[in-house]
Amino acid sequence: MVFETLERRIILEGEIEAITPLHIGSGKPEFEEGVDLPILKDPSGSPYIPGSSIKGKVRTEVERIARSSGMFVCNAPTIESMCGSRSTSEEQLCIACRIFGTASMKGGISRASKVKFRDALIITQTTLMQRAGIAMDREVGSVKAGALYTIEGVPAGAKFNLEIVAENLTDEEFKILKSALKSVEDSALGGHSSRGFGKIKFNIKAVKVRTANYYMGKEVEQIIEW
Ligand SMILES: [Zn+2]
Repeated sequence: MVFETLERRIILEGEIEAITPLHIGSGKPEFEEGVDLPILKDPSGSPYIPGSSIKGKVRTEVERIARSSGMFVCNAPTIESMCGSRSTSEEQLCIACRIFGTASMKGGISRASKVKFRDALIITQTTLMQRAGIAMDREVGSVKAGALYTIEGVPAGAKFNLEIVAENLTDEEFKILKSALKSVEDSALGGHSSRGFGKIKFNIKAVKVRTANYYMGKEVEQIIEW
């Protein structure tokens, strides 16, 4: 059995800055007046980036970096091929499953993510932009090939708040998480990167380390370099 203890919680605070326009779609066909491919908005109509979208992208980069350094990495998110389904102990999980969790088929082990990504809410006053495109050989969302369509986006310069909370990561796990965040900046977040969308920057402003003793008032939090 696994005893849950809090050894070290690392809280990254900062911003996600759109360097190019950003298109985070809802992932399902939608219709909005005047735009074919709308971005995701909260009930008040403000754009946001779901924590799950950031997590998915960061996990993908961790997997790519780990594979290129010769580590075994399973094929998430297909449950049958994830570590949880073929493992009987923690030690058998790949680094991506150790950090971001794994689901499992019957008889395997499931682990929750050690890293939580909060939804990133927009903090700048922003007028959304649209970019036109012509659907090529395949359908783009609900748009037919050959048709003109419009992609909605958050313009370059927009900023979102960022909070990532990581618990009990080993030094190796923290190091690869940090590398993955850098790699996401050179890759893309969200859709339509081939049309120039999705370049972002993580502006990390504070890295706080808190232990169980901090919560019990016995020590202060540590601020570490990013
Ligand atoms: Zn795995």
